[in-house]
Amino acid sequence: MTSKTQTMSKEKHKNKKVKVFKKKKKLESDDDVISRLQSQYENINANEIRSFKHFPLSFKTLKGLKDNNYTVPTEIQRDSIGLSLQGHDILGAANTGSGKTLAFLIPILEKLYCMKWTRLDGLGALIITPTRELAYQIFETLRKIGIYHDFSAGLIIGGKDLHFEKKRMDKCNIVICTPGRLLQHMDENPLFDCVTMKILVLDEADRCLDMGFQQTMNAIIENLPPERQTLLFSATQTKSVKDLARLSLKNPKYVAVHEHAKYSTPPGLKQSYIVCELHEKMSVLWSFIRNHLKHKCLIFLSSCKQVKYTYEIFCKLRPGTSLLALYGSLHQLKRMQIYESFSRKKNAILFATDIAARGLDFPEVNWVVQVDCPEDANTYIHRAGRTARYEKGGESLLILLPSEEEAMVKQLEDRRIPISKIKVNPSKLQNPQRKMEAFLAKNNELKQSAQRAFVAYAKSVFLMKNKDVFNINALDTDAYAMSLGLAIPPRIRFLQRHNKNQTQKIENNSIKLEFKSEDEEDNESSDEESGKSTDHGETSEEDNTKSEGRFGALDNDDSEDDIFQVKRKNHDIEDADLPDDVPTGEDAQNLNKSKKPLTKAALAKRLLKKKIVANKKTVFTEEGEVLLDATKEKQSELAKEYENEDEAGINIEKAKLVLREEDKFDKQRFKEKIKAKHRAEKKKLKDAKKQELEGEQDDFGSDESDDEPDLSWLPDPDKIYGKKNSDENETSEKFDENDEDSNSEDIEDSEIDDQESEEEEISQVHKPTKRKLITKKDVDNFDKPPVKKSKKNLKTLSEDLTVNEAEELAMKLLSGS
Ligand code: ADP
Ligand code: MG
Repeated sequence: MTSKTQTMSKEKHKNKKVKVFKKKKKLESDDDVISRLQSQYENINANEIRSFKHFPLSFKTLKGLKDNNYTVPTEIQRDSIGLSLQGHDILGAANTGSGKTLAFLIPILEKLYCMKWTRLDGLGALIITPTRELAYQIFETLRKIGIYHDFSAGLIIGGKDLHFEKKRMDKCNIVICTPGRLLQHMDENPLFDCVTMKILVLDEADRCLDMGFQQTMNAIIENLPPERQTLLFSATQTKSVKDLARLSLKNPKYVAVHEHAKYSTPPGLKQSYIVCELHEKMSVLWSFIRNHLKHKCLIFLSSCKQVKYTYEIFCKLRPGTSLLALYGSLHQLKRMQIYESFSRKKNAILFATDIAARGLDFPEVNWVVQVDCPEDANTYIHRAGRTARYEKGGESLLILLPSEEEAMVKQLEDRRIPISKIKVNPSKLQNPQRKMEAFLAKNNELKQSAQRAFVAYAKSVFLMKNKDVFNINALDTDAYAMSLGLAIPPRIRFLQRHNKNQTQKIENNSIKLEFKSEDEEDNESSDEESGKSTDHGETSEEDNTKSEGRFGALDNDDSEDDIFQVKRKNHDIEDADLPDDVPTGEDAQNLNKSKKPLTKAALAKRLLKKKIVANKKTVFTEEGEVLLDATKEKQSELAKEYENEDEAGINIEKAKLVLREEDKFDKQRFKEKIKAKHRAEKKKLKDAKKQELEGEQDDFGSDESDDEPDLSWLPDPDKIYGKKNSDENETSEKFDENDEDSNSEDIEDSEIDDQESEEEEISQVHKPTKRKLITKKDVDNFDKPPVKKSKKNLKTLSEDLTVNEAEELAMKLLSGS
């Protein structure tokens, strides 16, 4: 860069010449620089390094570091960079957030620089990381510090366009990738070739090499050139000889800077744990968030489905801060967007699975909350290590179940993790369960999400290898389901299937055991030892064997009861503080028992025992008396007698008699039904006619209406016409005329009479109702002004006149005479 600036200051006409001269000088000086730097590698003394400048590094690298404010190397950088430059294989171990990324990126840049690697030389360095976000983060750091170098770098992670990546792979000097995607390129992309690769880096090496990636990594390693430098970095470094042998490390240098430190977690990290019941977790988490609205918090849960549901329901509950969720089943672009978004935000809550547990360097995270117990102490260290990074402070909270506490806390203590127990202040707890229930009742999708979260949690516990910590027997799953807002606990099918298999196994074994000698039994137990499988997320032989001991002794009928048995009672939150509908202690046990899934046979048995008749409908009167349905009950004495007989089979003759007897009652009922139908039809007709009459009066308002108009201003028609009685009689007569069968319909008539008398009664009180009894003709008459009469007289008069006479009369009238 310096030479370039000098060139710019030369005179214009000399430019061309000078440029050629400088270029030559630059090339020479590059060679000189390289040999000068390389000659210093042997003498690097980590103890004398105070600044990056003290390392024999290229100007381009130093400038890249300086631009990003990296001046003083961290311990792991100071201790490992020199060894890496010298070409050693490295096993680097240092606390989370202690700068391991630069510890491998700097040697990569330097090695390729010294080898004068160009774009045409192909792949020079390969960096493998367990997650896409971490690969992206490393890629970004490389871009920043390697800006002055001319190497091309590629990010090869799943969820992106494979075709797009394929075309560019062969041009990448440094590839940062996840194992699955790398293997895919190795298998499918003829352009991708690793033969030129000089440095291999595994970041989060222990995770890359564990069972989850075992097969993929073995396949990748097979494709890599054996002549290479290998750098492994992690906060929880593998020392497994098997792992090292797999990678064919040559005399690796073990650099573990915090190995003799008092604690294995960063000094600025304050760690605590609380113990609560499973069904209290949601309210503890909700209360935590409500109390940390101005903080940036990372919340870990066991599975994608839990993260998804917790995020969804908490969004609905509106805590008052930004919520985000990061989990593996999200679309890649969304994952990146969320990663970026949480990195930028000052205060926010990120719910995440363990994809965010390793390596991610979100700035300024105040809190890490582990809602579900981590798989082991290593996972704990990585999760908690998302805060208190690079000389900063942070806090970590672990939530443990009473059944997890003892074994987990011991594991943490054994790993030199300073963690102290704190108690939840019950008065600070806010339980969102009721609101969650309401949301779930309204939203079926949300309910299904809750159900999936519930099963996913049970599965995660069931599949955990360490059965001293993870005991599915100890879970009160029904109460947990309720705490998620679910009214009915979903069935945990995999567990039911598992238990069934176990019971069958035990039955088979007990038959076999009768024929076995003592020696054979010993062999069997050693087989159990050797059949260990350790991958989390896979059902191992060991799991099955241990589970068998727990579930196997149960007999077929009661097995399900015992699986869900509640074994704990104590917790720090008093019962009074819990919501009313969360069962505790014995209630919970009873609830569990009553809610166990039933087989069809057991259900039928139970119904028989209780003499319950399926689909029976009983109707009660308001007084609580049972209303017998004549159509369903036997009416005749003979039939009742026949029903109560205990005789097996059917007595045909008697049955015929019974049917005949019952037939009489049926016919009678049929007659009554027809009569009732006729009556109803007549009533309908009468009502219609009545309404027709009333319809005329409706112009003045209905009797039933509260806001009827005041018609008191109208003159009393009785006084004017004295017609009221005759009209009234007319109306009632009309009804009588319609009544063809008045004798048979006595009851109905009396009902009508009642109605009418009622109306009369009312009409006495409210004057406007009298209008009911006034005919339309009467009303018309009220409206006719007296002037009309005189007009009519004029009209008749005018008809008798001649035209001239009429004109004369008109003139007289107009002149007012
Ligand atoms: P690790 O991989 O050990 O968990 P990272 O490499 O992610 O840690 O670094 C943690 C943080 O420390 C990052 O934000 C990084 O920028 C910062 N960091 C690393 N090295 C230095 C340094 N020498 N000086 C200042 N900051 C550094
Ligand atoms: Mg790291």
